[in-house]
Amino acid sequence: MRIDVFTIFPQLIQDFTAASLVGRARTSGVLDLRTHDPRDATTDKHRTVDDTPFGGGPGMVLKPEPIFAIVEQVAPPRPLLLLSPSGRTFNQEYAAELAQGDGFSLLCGRYEGVDQRVRDHLIDGEVSIGDVVLSGGEVAALTIIEAVSRLLPGMMGNAESADDESFADGLLEYPHYTRPWSFNDWEAPDVLRSGDHARVARWRRAKALELTMARRPDLIEARGGLSAEELALCEEFGIVTD
Ligand code: SAH
Repeated sequence: MRIDVFTIFPQLIQDFTAASLVGRARTSGVLDLRTHDPRDATTDKHRTVDDTPFGGGPGMVLKPEPIFAIVEQVAPPRPLLLLSPSGRTFNQEYAAELAQGDGFSLLCGRYEGVDQRVRDHLIDGEVSIGDVVLSGGEVAALTIIEAVSRLLPGMMGNAESADDESFADGLLEYPHYTRPWSFNDWEAPDVLRSGDHARVARWRRAKALELTMARRPDLIEARGGLSAEELALCEEFGIVTD
């Protein structure tokens, strides 16, 4: 997987991705992550990447020439996605889509954003990390890089854990417990030491349903409500379904 990031703050991307799982993906060769600074494609003495908006108004806009020039020099993997609050909302499904390809590229905006001609004539799409406004695309890019990296082959400590996680089957994840069994007089649920693996699996699924019904009824709705089998599971563990 190759990911190219275009940013006027490449160090933010480099420093963060040197650590943790993304760092491991990079050193093991599973992930080829490259950063490119539009400033390196400027031709003026001051290496100018921004300018004031035509028509007036606050802030600065990233100029088109350095961005077009650096992208043309690099010929990065496509799709080239602009980080933008106007983009398609990033989620686990989108991460899985990106993880399936050989690579993609991310263009980080700053200030008021990029000149519209970059959006009209250079990029392939726009991606948002949610209805919130950041000061730059770098943190959004890192969110995407981290979510995609952990889906790459060989990246999760336990290959099965990705299938079990939140959103994997349209549900939030069940609760986890570890030692000590009793902490401040709060005990872990008995079913978890029953040794009955099938029952543990049923309990986990029932708890995932319970949590999703409480927090994200929209997710339950999206998968067409509860099946007869799921209703039975909830009943088995005393979970109210209406
Ligand atoms: N004026 C713009 C916001 C610019 S914020 C507007 O109102 O839409 C500066 C840059 O931060 C953007 O160009 C984009 O690259 C990044 N950014 C801000 N919020 C983001 C979000 N929710 N998702 C992805 N990128 C975002």
